[in-house]
Amino acid sequence: MPELPEVETVRRVLHERYAGKTITAVALGRPTFCRKPSADTLRALTGARISAFRRRGKYLLMVLEGRGEVVFHLGMSGRLTVGGESPHVRFQFWVGTEEVRFHDSRRFGRVGGLLPELGPEPLEALFDADYLWKTLHGRTAPVKALIMDQRLIAGLGNIYATEALHLAGIRPGRAGKSLKRGEVEKLAAACRKVLQRGVELGGSTLDDESFLDPLGRPGRMQKHVKAYGRDDCGTCGSPLLDAKKSIGGRTSRYCPACQR
Ligand SMILES: [Zn+2]
Repeated sequence: MPELPEVETVRRVLHERYAGKTITAVALGRPTFCRKPSADTLRALTGARISAFRRRGKYLLMVLEGRGEVVFHLGMSGRLTVGGESPHVRFQFWVGTEEVRFHDSRRFGRVGGLLPELGPEPLEALFDADYLWKTLHGRTAPVKALIMDQRLIAGLGNIYATEALHLAGIRPGRAGKSLKRGEVEKLAAACRKVLQRGVELGGSTLDDESFLDPLGRPGRMQKHVKAYGRDDCGTCGSPLLDAKKSIGGRTSRYCPACQR
């Protein structure tokens, strides 16, 4: 599932390629697309000039000159590509002769609609140890679930939350309120660090639903993960364990030696 670094990677490619250009045509793909763009969205797009691609958390926004913004949510497996073959094209638009396709094999993706309420992002100044301390304070939910809650902190999903907790030396199943101030400081820094690294490396490509950028290029973050999707710890080599309870419906891997 695309997280902040993957969406940022998509944004950079599309911005560089299409900012300042005009959308010449739009089309809807298969009728099975349940959350298709509304008629208003389609009208706004046709003939519009793209002033920028922005990102907020895991959402990509196409800013149209004088016509507002169109929100893209990639969901679990949504992708935006420049041309390319796919049996699951849901929506497409043309910029000059180039075709940009939104495809999604699982239909959790979305085009149009409003941006939900989102917390600050770890790469913004609003997010710091004080903010994280206040956010975790008094909460009994697992720390991993709290840092993945987009209303509290925007951008982290399973991969980067797993990596941030590993880097900070904190087990994913611990209650938010159990963290000491020093641990919160380490975790705030770790959230920033793993996301920064993910952006620098063009995202991570390691799942069955592998992430590729709009030009079909894989990311490189997967070569640097220390816990997510691994059997042994990337720092000390110990066999990794899964937290007993699933967190947010997902397994949570951690190192029993490096994480407390
Ligand atoms: Zn370890």
